[in-house]
Amino acid sequence: MNKELEKFRDKAREFATAELAPYAAQIDKDDEFPSDMWTKIGDANLMGITIPKEYGGEALSYMHHVIVVEEFSRASGSAGFAYAAHSNICVDNLYKSGTEAQRQKYLPKLISGEHVGALAMSEPNAGSDVVGSMECHAEKKGNVWVANGTKRWITNGPYAETFIVYMRTAGKEAGSKSITAFLVEKGMAGFTQGIKKDKLGMRGAGNCELYFKDCEIPEENVLGEVNKGVALLMNGLDSERLILCAGPLGIMQAAMDTVIPYVQERVQFGQAIANFQMVQAKIAEMYTKLEASRGMVYRLGENFTEHKNRNRDAAAACFFSSECSTSVALDAIQLMGGRGYMNEEIPGRLLRDSKIYEIGGGTNEIRKMIIARDLTKPAKK
Ligand SMILES: Cc1cc2nc3c(=O)[nH]c(=O)nc-3n(C[C@H](O)[C@H](O)[C@H](O)COP(=O)(O)OP(=O)(O)OC[C@H]3O[C@@H](n4cnc5c(N)ncnc54)[C@H](O)[C@@H]3O)c2cc1C
Repeated sequence: MNKELEKFRDKAREFATAELAPYAAQIDKDDEFPSDMWTKIGDANLMGITIPKEYGGEALSYMHHVIVVEEFSRASGSAGFAYAAHSNICVDNLYKSGTEAQRQKYLPKLISGEHVGALAMSEPNAGSDVVGSMECHAEKKGNVWVANGTKRWITNGPYAETFIVYMRTAGKEAGSKSITAFLVEKGMAGFTQGIKKDKLGMRGAGNCELYFKDCEIPEENVLGEVNKGVALLMNGLDSERLILCAGPLGIMQAAMDTVIPYVQERVQFGQAIANFQMVQAKIAEMYTKLEASRGMVYRLGENFTEHKNRNRDAAAACFFSSECSTSVALDAIQLMGGRGYMNEEIPGRLLRDSKIYEIGGGTNEIRKMIIARDLTKPAKK
């Protein structure tokens, strides 16, 4: 990692240490972020990392974005997760596919933190098979699209102002050419944000259903081209996977930050438990899982734009780092014995936060499918 990136990491860490870490336990307990968290991130110029300066962004690389998500997740897993959903999954996608008018209208407020963003593709009956099973639909009537249906599990959904929403806009027989992305705003007639779901981890990062009942979306809110939403969705998923797999890195680092001092201080049988070989083996395994994941994620991030195999490698990095994170969090609990099992300690939260990375943005089973299909596809003749 070059010196400029290291310096940038210091800036992200400084912010996360001062503004996120002190609130992490309370966020988890209350299932609520501090009300000024988003604008503070905006004021620190960390919201529009990959977005050009003319829209209020920083014009930096995906690798810079990886570093911010890693450092935020080290301080608070849920802040890192909600931030990634906002700054990459909504903001970066909106920039990549938006018209000039859409960029001018939405990006400045999303980048300042005045508005929060979300992306909605999943539905009650459309999860892993989101394209094939999508039921939410929009029909063109005059100069508006009339949308109906329900989206589910939408991160930042309860409090977001700007949503990228995928809807079916042609018959299923048109396959990958039947889906369109739209920009939906809080308060549009016929659009309702559901109540916040109570969930295992990533508490604070609100999650809810979205309801569309004859919601009239203006024509100028089509994002990208009509019926070309699948390409937009798939293109977005690669960078989403890259940015999301920085979350497990931060969580694993938080586990190391917690247990290394603990095993050095905790005395049993007249000595620090760090002296026992079985404890040392666990520490070595945890460290190796973290560093192996880091190697994969950074390699992908550093060459992301020109990466040839980024589809399968983004899936591989996500699959590997998420499994490592869950196992490292479990090891942290074990190393702290009874204290590790207490909710007042950090490792339980790390375990609960880790698990979503094996599910969200495509499950690990689907990631394995992507990797293996790519490696075994028939050679071109
Ligand atoms: C906290 C949280 C936040 C989320 N945030 C968002 C968001 O912001 N926006 C959004 O659009 N979605 C979001 N999601 C939804 C998430 O992307 C889906 O949960 C995920 O894609 C899996 O879909 P599903 O839950 O319907 O599971 P299903 O697709 O029903 O899968 C259930 C199980 O079956 C397995 N399975 C399914 N198909 C196959 C197959 N072909 N081969 C092998 N195994 C298979 C899966 O791997 C899984 O283990 C979020 C979910 C959660 C829990």
